[in-house]
Amino acid sequence: TAACLTAAEGASALNAFVHMTPETATAQAEAADARLADGDAPPLCGIPLGIKDLFCTRGVASQAASRILEGFRPEYESTVTARLWDAGAVMLGKLNMDEFAMGSSNETSVYGEAVNPWKVDERRLTPGGSSGGSAAAVAADLCLGATGTDTGGSIRQPAAFAGITGIKPTYGRCSRWGIVAFASSLDQAGPMGKSVRDCAIMLGAMAGHDPLDSTSADLPVPDFEAALTGDIRGRTIGIPREYRMEGMPGEIDALWTRGREMLADAGAKIVDVSLPHTKYALPTYYVLAPAEASSNLARYDGVRFGHRADLVPGDGVTEMYEKTRAEGFGDEVKRRIMIGTYVLSAGFYDAYYNRARKVRALIKRDFDQVFAAGVDAILTPTTPSAAFGLGEMAEADPVQMYLNDVFTVTVNLAGLPGISVPAGLDGRGLPLGLQLIGRPFEEGDLLNVAASLE
Ligand code: GLN
Repeated sequence: TAACLTAAEGASALNAFVHMTPETATAQAEAADARLADGDAPPLCGIPLGIKDLFCTRGVASQAASRILEGFRPEYESTVTARLWDAGAVMLGKLNMDEFAMGSSNETSVYGEAVNPWKVDERRLTPGGSSGGSAAAVAADLCLGATGTDTGGSIRQPAAFAGITGIKPTYGRCSRWGIVAFASSLDQAGPMGKSVRDCAIMLGAMAGHDPLDSTSADLPVPDFEAALTGDIRGRTIGIPREYRMEGMPGEIDALWTRGREMLADAGAKIVDVSLPHTKYALPTYYVLAPAEASSNLARYDGVRFGHRADLVPGDGVTEMYEKTRAEGFGDEVKRRIMIGTYVLSAGFYDAYYNRARKVRALIKRDFDQVFAAGVDAILTPTTPSAAFGLGEMAEADPVQMYLNDVFTVTVNLAGLPGISVPAGLDGRGLPLGLQLIGRPFEEGDLLNVAASLE
């Protein structure tokens, strides 16, 4: 813990940690030592972790990287982080992210961008987003693992960009209670770590039924670490032909082929599969996620949480809302709220929101059919490219940024577990990730297959 605290302080150029909690860390580390001495060591005893700023942590700034939550110190602890502390983990501090988890580059954060520890020619690269601080901190060894959340790829894409492993569990596997909501039907928390095994151990601690989240699944949590048998003989791996996008860089294609070969060498059977509604996934996601966000973010009104704008005599409640939101939310968040209120408005509800919900059901059905035909996991690239330069995409049209999520959003729309594993380097020496998508609530099997790619 002491070494990680020192490393994190020394790595301020990465801007990964946005609040350090050395006192909590020291107290938790001492308690962990005492438990070890008593011979009662829980699975994460004394393991120093970083926590994405989207998780509410009692008495500690929890701002979702937004100005509108400035000064907010929750009186409660998210279920996922509470479970991690029960399992003996140590909190080093809160990690940078895109504002309200909206983004793919960590550039929408009120704290400024987090920086990828991987570099080419001294150019500063994005660690991805929205869990960019988590990815940068784990990759730079500032902590042994981190929490992330994934609504459309925010664990898997940053994991791929930073050369680490991250799993988005099945929707309902981890409680959403105490995690600032972005799009409630898509959001899931998950671990980010240096290896499949680290993620398996962390996920075991984070997961489980929670009566405080009505969408949390009332299922036992299997021993994910015990599932890592290393044996994938006879497993069937599907290669979805619709993910072979036009204009896909040759090195992404080569990476995908290499992954297929590694799984085949380990004894898996490789089959071609079809997920015909894949091409509608991005537009569906970028209707549904903003719709849910516009509803979830209505609570930031200057009254209940965080920041309130200075008012002048004559200002009423409407001015308070308007001024607070105008200065509290960043541009990307405002864009999402506007898209969301538009697609939910009376005149456009059927044309956009309802239609997107129907297409979502078709996307889910595509996966159901592939799994019903005997496929155990689906292999795809995690991202269409390696990490891009900071500033490079933010200046382009926002849709360019959204295209980053092309391989990841289907998994959230279908509620399935998905993992990204580092699978090699591109021509410039930057990490690339491969994604495996599994059957619902079979994270153990998914982790086991993923370990064959390590
Ligand atoms: N990049 C996607 C978005 O901006 C996904 C974000 C996420 O998974 N939280 O919506």
